[in-house]
Amino acid sequence: MRYAAAVFLLTMTATGAPLPEPGVSEALAKERAASISKLRYFLSFNIPEHRADAVTGAVTIRFEMKTAGQVVLDFEQPREYVTSLKVNDADAPVVLVNGHIVIPEQASRAGENIVAVSFRAGDQALNRSDDFLYTLFVPARARLTFPCFDQPDLKGRYTLSLVMITGWQGVSNGSLSIYSTMGRISEATFAETEPLPTYLVAFAAGKFQRETAERGGLTFTMYHRETDAAKVARNRDALFDLHAKSLAWLEDYTGIKYPWGKFDFVLIPSFQFGGMEHPGAIFYNASSMMLDESATQNQFLNRASTIAHETAHMWFGDLVTMRWFNDVWMKEVMANFMAAKIVNPSFPQVNHELRFLFAYYPPAYEVDRTAGANPIRQQLANLDEAGSLYGNIIYDKAPVIMRQLERMLGEREFRGGLREYLKQFAFSNATWLDLIKILDDRTPEDLAAWSHVWVEQRGRPEIAATIKIDSHGNVARLHLGQHDPLKRGLLWPQQLEVTFGYPNGLKQNDVELKGASTDIPSAIGLPHPLFVLPTGEGLGYGGFTLDVGSRRYFLDHLEDIHDDLTRGSALVVLWDEVLSAHISPSEFLTFATRVLPLESNEQNLQYLLGALADAYWRFLPQEQRLARVPALESLLREGIARASTTSQKAAWFSAFGSIAQTKAGVEWLAHLWSREEKIEGLPFVEQDEIALAGALAVREAPGWEKILTAQFERTQNPDRKARFEFVMPALSADPKVRQASFERLRDVNNRRREPWVLESLSYLHHPLRARESEHFIRESLDLLPEIQRTGDIFFPKRWVDATLDGHRSLEAARMVQQFLEQSPKLPERLRWVVLASADELFRAAKMR
Ligand SMILES: [Zn+2]
Repeated sequence: MRYAAAVFLLTMTATGAPLPEPGVSEALAKERAASISKLRYFLSFNIPEHRADAVTGAVTIRFEMKTAGQVVLDFEQPREYVTSLKVNDADAPVVLVNGHIVIPEQASRAGENIVAVSFRAGDQALNRSDDFLYTLFVPARARLTFPCFDQPDLKGRYTLSLVMITGWQGVSNGSLSIYSTMGRISEATFAETEPLPTYLVAFAAGKFQRETAERGGLTFTMYHRETDAAKVARNRDALFDLHAKSLAWLEDYTGIKYPWGKFDFVLIPSFQFGGMEHPGAIFYNASSMMLDESATQNQFLNRASTIAHETAHMWFGDLVTMRWFNDVWMKEVMANFMAAKIVNPSFPQVNHELRFLFAYYPPAYEVDRTAGANPIRQQLANLDEAGSLYGNIIYDKAPVIMRQLERMLGEREFRGGLREYLKQFAFSNATWLDLIKILDDRTPEDLAAWSHVWVEQRGRPEIAATIKIDSHGNVARLHLGQHDPLKRGLLWPQQLEVTFGYPNGLKQNDVELKGASTDIPSAIGLPHPLFVLPTGEGLGYGGFTLDVGSRRYFLDHLEDIHDDLTRGSALVVLWDEVLSAHISPSEFLTFATRVLPLESNEQNLQYLLGALADAYWRFLPQEQRLARVPALESLLREGIARASTTSQKAAWFSAFGSIAQTKAGVEWLAHLWSREEKIEGLPFVEQDEIALAGALAVREAPGWEKILTAQFERTQNPDRKARFEFVMPALSADPKVRQASFERLRDVNNRRREPWVLESLSYLHHPLRARESEHFIRESLDLLPEIQRTGDIFFPKRWVDATLDGHRSLEAARMVQQFLEQSPKLPERLRWVVLASADELFRAAKMR
């Protein structure tokens, strides 16, 4: 059908106007942004009472064009969804090509044009439930709902009206201007908005409770569906206060008044994200906003951070928007950056620097140290592929470089630059390079060069520290050398703190790393330190090689360092040194075993327990694991018994459940599962028992088959029961059953519930079964392009991770290499995904 339409168009427009490709291509977006201006949408939707009935709508789009030309609107629905089309007051034939309504040049004119379309809206972006619905248009899904120019740099003013059942509430970006009722039907009309990109347009309609409060002269309105009145009463004031506080802070920081008039927010059950920053109508996931009485400090911190994050978007992203989605990372990082400034001072008990270190550095390194590293800023040829940009580099490396940027400029100049940027591009669009240009004028540093290597290029520097001591026992020379492991000759300028450790404390040395070789003159003459840590205060980013003496000191005396952040930074470097084979996995395990009982900081403890399990499964052959496991099990059991809080007990226990292999250890797990024993202070919920049943089955504990059946029967929650039923065959000791559990994954219908699939793959490829599951590797990799085509944005990486994480053999590594060699047509981004996921496997295979 589409093909026929295209042919029809070709014969129609003999002028040779190009056919728009599917999705929204960068070329189309550029062309439209250059010719279209003064855009206004007059939109109305008719929302029927029953969700099986179609939502219909009408839109009138007014805009100016420099010259007459072909007009391409985005509307990703079948031809019959368009019921009428008028262009400049004349009926026009509907030509739908690849998800676009194409209006020929003859119908348009220079100056103002008016396009009016009546249509049926698709349900894909409407999130319809029985008694409410809400839109979610990011990144380019507005075109599923109404005809529009679906790109971030064609901002329009919207006037919206919603016709719905009387009794339903409506909320949108603009403030409600008229609400009229005629019997069972009501109509809500919202005042015209400031200019908005399509991805920020939003409305929700349905049965909502409404609460308002006044803070600092502004009225805040909350819409929610919570039925527990006590819960609402408990959370209500905090929600208004957190918004008001964030807003006041941002007005002060940016020097710009809140730009969107009214401030509403909607709490939506099972919302896809934590929040979405629609101006004037923020949507949140209700469960992280309405907290229970038992909420932990972490949940309070996360709630405050989410609110500050979305409120920061009102300026960063909403007032000034990226020109194209390749810069989507920028608004996210900026919102997180502001949120940390707003929220952290209210939680003084938390070590925020350590939290930043563990939240961002290890996951960023997981990709950036590999041959599959990708740059923060990437080309994006079509919004269809926007999903493939998301990953650890955007989420975890970008915050690190934003912090660096502020350090380079200083807080004052950084804020000054941001104010200038917001003012200059208000209600418009800008790129990352526009911001860098503004900031560059405020520093003697060459920011363009800095940005080129940190933002536009992939990978991280390798940095080695060397120290020389003179005959008096003082420092004669301290030197840092850096090089590009991907052999492009890149150099990464950065500001570091190099920490010297002494028996009575720490000495920080400010260092500016610029060229390939940096001497630190301020260190000369200082007494010989116990250690040199080039990632002092958790700042430096790269693959660090310690000097021999410092490496030895950390392995033997880490516990003697009193500062939590210094120990945490050293731990991150030590793990990197294991991966680069400067420290053997066996030596690391010996170190971890000694240090774990002495670690007092919970964040450090969590990280170390994770590294311990990774070293054990990934880097030790089974004979060595079996030799070590009795001592490890008793260490972890002692940790469980000694831990003073539930979260610490849970961390110790989860490490135990991961590594246990002795008869006694597995028996204890079985007793915990069968409820014959329990751990004081660590109550198990249904998910914990399901995980235990899985751990027992994969170890082929006596009666494993009965354990699985019994677990299935005693699982109460229907979602968890269905998931467990799906995963069970992957746990079987019978290779034929496991084979069948893999084969069903070829059918996309069996891959719809991605977490179920990933859990099955993880069990299939458990290290204890790695040898027997090697033969699944090639087929899993061959399926990858299809996985990308049919799955969610994070699915391809997680699919390969779940396939390879349990493996360490040379054969497995060879299979991956062979796949890459024999798939020359694999798109570069997917190649990177495979290389990043296979990194530890390659290293483990090489270390043998
Ligand atoms: Zn965000």
